[in-house]
Amino acid sequence: MTDIKFYNTASRKKEVFTPLDPSNVRMYACGPTVYDFAHIGNGRTAVTFDLVFRLLRYHYGADHVTYARNITDVEDKIIARAQERGVSIADITRETTRIYQEDMYALGNLAPTIEPRATAHIGDMVSMIETLIDKGNAYAAEGHVLFSVDSHASYGQLSGRSVDEMIAGARVEVAPYKKSPMDFVLWKPSTEDQPGWDSPWGKGRPGWHIECSAMSAHHLGITFDLHGGGVDLAFPHHENELAQSRCAHDGTDMAAIWMHGGYLQVDGQKMSKSLGNFLTVHDLVEKWPGEALRLHLLMTHYRQPLNWTEAGVREAKTVLDRWYRLLGGRLDAAPQEALPPDFIAAFSDDVNTPQALAVMHDLANKAGQGDQAAADLLLSSGRLLGLFSMSAAEWARWQPKGAEIDAAAVEALIKARADARSQKNFKEADRIRDELKDMGVAIEDGPDGTTWRTDR
Ligand code: AMP
Ligand code: ZN
Repeated sequence: MTDIKFYNTASRKKEVFTPLDPSNVRMYACGPTVYDFAHIGNGRTAVTFDLVFRLLRYHYGADHVTYARNITDVEDKIIARAQERGVSIADITRETTRIYQEDMYALGNLAPTIEPRATAHIGDMVSMIETLIDKGNAYAAEGHVLFSVDSHASYGQLSGRSVDEMIAGARVEVAPYKKSPMDFVLWKPSTEDQPGWDSPWGKGRPGWHIECSAMSAHHLGITFDLHGGGVDLAFPHHENELAQSRCAHDGTDMAAIWMHGGYLQVDGQKMSKSLGNFLTVHDLVEKWPGEALRLHLLMTHYRQPLNWTEAGVREAKTVLDRWYRLLGGRLDAAPQEALPPDFIAAFSDDVNTPQALAVMHDLANKAGQGDQAAADLLLSSGRLLGLFSMSAAEWARWQPKGAEIDAAAVEALIKARADARSQKNFKEADRIRDELKDMGVAIEDGPDGTTWRTDR
């Protein structure tokens, strides 16, 4: 069997992947803070770890991989947003989580095995913080608990930074209750109108980093196979997670492999909420089929920066138009087991999607010359990457929301339906009525023939 190789941020090398337990391969990716729509940069990172999940499921079996992606549902940005809008925190987090899950589904991502919510694991976090205090790695001060960075000699090892770089990178907050400016918050006090839980240090709430350490240990165990996120999370978030987990668990490593995805950029700058240069997944999936967005993401290797452009999405859509046309009725058939070895080799080599897509382009060219086996392999390869979820007819019919309806196409379908009815082929007539309905067209049969109107 082909080896899987992943680039490991911790060793700064591409390594052959050996699971800790092949009957239960465990991965964790840091998920969203749920106060606002996800942008396509967040979507890129989610797609990257969905690809890792799919690759591991292919190699070890779908029932032998556990993927946890957390939901951060307690955080200062959520509190601020709830106050701004005059709605409850629970309403914001519930609604945003639902939309996030829909958007990730629209991008072709499988649901993770577990989506733990921070607010459901406060007890785990409190007990981990108590352990860190007992072991001398954390201290309580003025209602806060802080992790003492000086207590952990290998702090900075994951991201490979010097103390000076870390201080600059973390934009450290100087506060009177900190022993050292690098120390970071494990717990902080809450006022009456802020969400809070009782704790040995008074009513308060957890810091962001402790959430992932506590939830991953709860669901995946002290050491698991793979931990991921966008490259912005390597420091300080993952460095802090690793420090907490190592210290709480007697020096045991948190994850065997750490993976970080490159930025999605606009005109050379990171897409982000704060720069205002973002496109939400929610808006994009109304303008483009989710698979075209996904294919645009897959065209660049996950560790490289990816420049997001409309021309790029259009190119991806054109490729899919051709592939869907080539595959036709095959898309309705039962899934194929066989996969091309060169495709699997590329996908297994640190998720090399550009190389895997090159194999698919070759297959498409052969399929275009009538090679049936190549068409089958194109289909199975695409399905493994999370493409080809529609039938050829559904794909052809897909329209952006609010698009003009093509009147000539509607008239042609109405005529085809009338012909089918006159031949007493009512099954076909009903199918055409449904097709029109999917296009957003309602028809009505009257004494002077069939009339239609838009119905969206
Ligand atoms: P956030 O909501 O900012 O905590 O981000 C959630 C996830 O999206 C994290 O894994 C981030 O690393 C990732 N992320 C945020 N912005 C980008 C971007 N422009 N490109 C790629 N990943 C991003
Ligand atoms: Zn995390």
